[in-house]
Amino acid sequence: MGSSKGVESRILLQRLRAVMAEAGEGQDRLNSIVRLIAESMAAEVCSIYLRRDEQTLELCATEGLRAEAVHNTRLRIGEGLVGRVVKSANPVNEADAPKAKGFSYRPETGEEIYSSFLGVPISRLGAVLGVVVVQNTAPRIYTDDEIYALEIVAMVLAEMTELGVFAGPDDLSVPTQHSWPFFARGLIGQEGAAEGVVLLHEQQVVVANPVADDPDVEMAKLAAAIETLQSEVDRMYEADFAHEAGDHRDVLDTYRMFAQDRGWRRRMEASIDSGLAAIVAVEREQTSTRMRMERVADPYIRERLHDLDDLSNRLLRILSGGEGANGRDIPDNAVLVARNIGPGELLDYAGKIIGVVLEEGSVGSHAAIVARALAIPLVIQAEHISREALNGDPILVDGDSGVVHLRPEEKIVAAFREKLAMQAEAQHEYAALRDLPAETRNGVVVDLHMNAGLMADLPSLNTCGAQGVGLYRTELQFLIHARMPRRDDLVSLYTRVMDAAGDMPVTFRTLDIGSDKVLPYLKRVEEPNPALGWRAIRVGLDRPGVMRMQLQALIRAAKGRPLRVMFPFVAETDEYLQARDMVHAEIAREVAHKHVVPSDLKIGAMLETPSLAYAPDMFFKTTDFLSIGGNDLKQFFFAADRENELVRRRYDTLNLSFLDFIEHIVKRCTAARTPVSFCGEDAGRPLEALALAAMGLRNLSMRPASVGPVKRILRLVDLDEARAVIISARERGEISARPALTDWIAKLVS
Ligand code: PEP
Ligand code: MG
Repeated sequence: MGSSKGVESRILLQRLRAVMAEAGEGQDRLNSIVRLIAESMAAEVCSIYLRRDEQTLELCATEGLRAEAVHNTRLRIGEGLVGRVVKSANPVNEADAPKAKGFSYRPETGEEIYSSFLGVPISRLGAVLGVVVVQNTAPRIYTDDEIYALEIVAMVLAEMTELGVFAGPDDLSVPTQHSWPFFARGLIGQEGAAEGVVLLHEQQVVVANPVADDPDVEMAKLAAAIETLQSEVDRMYEADFAHEAGDHRDVLDTYRMFAQDRGWRRRMEASIDSGLAAIVAVEREQTSTRMRMERVADPYIRERLHDLDDLSNRLLRILSGGEGANGRDIPDNAVLVARNIGPGELLDYAGKIIGVVLEEGSVGSHAAIVARALAIPLVIQAEHISREALNGDPILVDGDSGVVHLRPEEKIVAAFREKLAMQAEAQHEYAALRDLPAETRNGVVVDLHMNAGLMADLPSLNTCGAQGVGLYRTELQFLIHARMPRRDDLVSLYTRVMDAAGDMPVTFRTLDIGSDKVLPYLKRVEEPNPALGWRAIRVGLDRPGVMRMQLQALIRAAKGRPLRVMFPFVAETDEYLQARDMVHAEIAREVAHKHVVPSDLKIGAMLETPSLAYAPDMFFKTTDFLSIGGNDLKQFFFAADRENELVRRRYDTLNLSFLDFIEHIVKRCTAARTPVSFCGEDAGRPLEALALAAMGLRNLSMRPASVGPVKRILRLVDLDEARAVIISARERGEISARPALTDWIAKLVS
């Protein structure tokens, strides 16, 4: 075994290792390394540039360029050929460098006499830490073998840089990687703020010895690890939930394909053949996958590259004998940082973390739903966070603005702490209001309820000041499991929910799946427009099996207690009537089986489609109650997808046409004497809640954390005055009531 290029680079790596083993300062080591590389590659110049901070590269050692340039020559990322290497994360190979596009002339280096230039990124797991460059006077293009050799060397340099062997404890001239402040602007996943330390979800592998002692031993390690991986994947495949077709199965198919893929394996073997340890060979492969991932726009290919990345992670875990973050000691103030995370995995961290930052994820993702249930701040799409963050790094998560500060500077920390203190003060104020009603100055009482969906939500019921659960989203339980829950599971879950609520009412909404809520174990129906597609009650009526099971479970859990059931996404009267018949049929069955039935039954519908606002009077009279699902209703009213970042914030809830529409619905309910509530996210935003109350709503259901702020604003105002402000804004022809209401409130509190 062993190609000639493998043998050459092996010799180079062995010599590199000998240099590493020598005692001395980091700078001495770097100097020896550049000398060694220059000599081995017959180059007149070899230089190493390392990141000084997020934006800057610094010449840290050179053989051939002027010594006084070391630690003086700095380039911005993207500047000069070296900066180009970082920006593109790819080698740059130029025969006539001074004439090449982007060449940046630095007189202090004396490099203008060298024509040929080869720069290779020093990168690890997608993070570019620096650049290693060789140069020669004679103009030439470096061969593929030379590029390959320098890449292998760069891999070892990356490991050493990450280990901090160049930045000695006493010598601060060589920059330490991951030491500078890093800022990411992502999206708001869940509001709130947290100050803590990073806990990486994906294990951070520390490689003490990147060069293989014996390639045969490393080859055997890789083979054994791949075998373990293959059997892990097979076991997952055989697990019961995988028997049904679905997304999980697709992922596993991809896993299997890669786990058996010879190209993937061969590339890692070639790296070992070149002298790298097995674990570094896997990292090298993973680095190139991540680089590809950055460039690929096609969502399908990106997904597959993710699967490959996950597989590399598993392989690294096997090779390092480590476990996931959950097996480790978790500090008190841990902020979980991950590329992405599944809802079940996130739930495992419940109670152990104070915030979450994801590099990917979407507002409606299952992880976001869980973060909301855990009531911890979540920032999503925080670019590059998972590669910049190290375990234990200080981190500030601002879920209110979607911003993350990693290793922040003092003044940022101070400002952030001020914000936290203000929030704590506000919490204090809300706690004092807990047992008081949301009664306005003119004596109108608005009932405030909370939204829930997981057991993790329920402790809030006793602390947030809500009068009950206005919306229990039953699908969340279905979403976080890998297989369909059984009826008995549901009976015990719903029993626990009702027990936890005690005398307070809980409104259970039947499964609202489809659109953004896809169950991993159900066959996915490809739809051109899922938000307008086969979802919620439409699925429940067409395939009644699951809904029937759920209704049975609810009736059994109620066991002589009152039961409130609500159907999602009803678009016309008939759908409600059919669903209601199903409830009655299940009650009749229970009676026939001599089971105890609920002491009182209320069957309601969610009003989430504009059509229902114009349903016949009969509809309003027949329903026991209605709840306006403002999230969906608003997306259909404005024809603006609630999941689409380009449009989802475009139309204001306080738009006067929308408020008119809400008022129309309230009037129809009042005329039919049907209780109506509002349970979309807007109910939890103080100004929006105020406007909804001004439009006549007397029952709002929201996230537990919003109950305090909403109660506070309602207790501050005279609702007739608020209404007058809205009406005069309408009369003035304004589009939204927001400016007028904001002004009015500001004057009120000043
Ligand atoms: C809504 O649409 O407003 C609602 C409460 O339901 P969901 O957000 O679960 O679709
Ligand atoms: Mg909805």
